[in-house]
Amino acid sequence: MVDQTNKDERYKARQQKVKTEVDARVEAAQEEKGLFLIITGNGKGKSTSGFGTIARAVGHGQKCGVGQFIKGTWDCGERNLLEGHGVNFAVMATGFTWETQNKAADTAAAQATWAECKKMLADNSYDVVLLDELTYMVTYGYIELDEVVEAISNRPAMQSVIVTGRGAHRSLIELADTVSEVRSIKHAFESGIKARKGVDW
Ligand code: ATP
Ligand code: MG
Repeated sequence: MVDQTNKDERYKARQQKVKTEVDARVEAAQEEKGLFLIITGNGKGKSTSGFGTIARAVGHGQKCGVGQFIKGTWDCGERNLLEGHGVNFAVMATGFTWETQNKAADTAAAQATWAECKKMLADNSYDVVLLDELTYMVTYGYIELDEVVEAISNRPAMQSVIVTGRGAHRSLIELADTVSEVRSIKHAFESGIKARKGVDW
């Protein structure tokens, strides 16, 4: 009985210490600005996370935009839903790059989508802009890294931006406020299971 009381007391003291530390950190975080987030890595969940954030912002009545690189010709559940809620989509309409194998056409398509994204990144009526799969455009050289860094750096102060895709360039990682890496432990595709509507797109 005495033992249990001691345990309870120690638990209470420990929790109080945690609370004091967390409160101090919350108090210290006073800066208010739009965030630049990157969701990268090889595991599944990058675009899901980006669109989840857009849904969250839309739920607060915020204005959002999405630039979709690579996957334009796919039926897209998020787009079907979010366009109906006033989210502006700029979609690269060429499908997978490894299907087209035409660098000039891919570059033109990427540039056209990027031009629309730059408009959103310069428009202070947008609260959150998702640039889905943008990392590949930089890796393939379809969009200049410097242009991306410039557009994100010069965006309106309260605007948040999310970039998704594998292999995010280190200049983007340096510029970002929050970077998460999704690590694959296993993926259904490796067991020969087909991608599923509603889960994978
Ligand atoms: P999601 O859109 O499901 O969040 P993602 O954005 O993290 O996935 P992408 O590389 O954009 O990953 O992949 C898109 C498609 O590839 C999805 O159908 C997803 O299930 C699949 N995928 C993601 N990660 C893996 C993986 N490690 N192995 C095989 N397929 C994957
Ligand atoms: Mg993705």
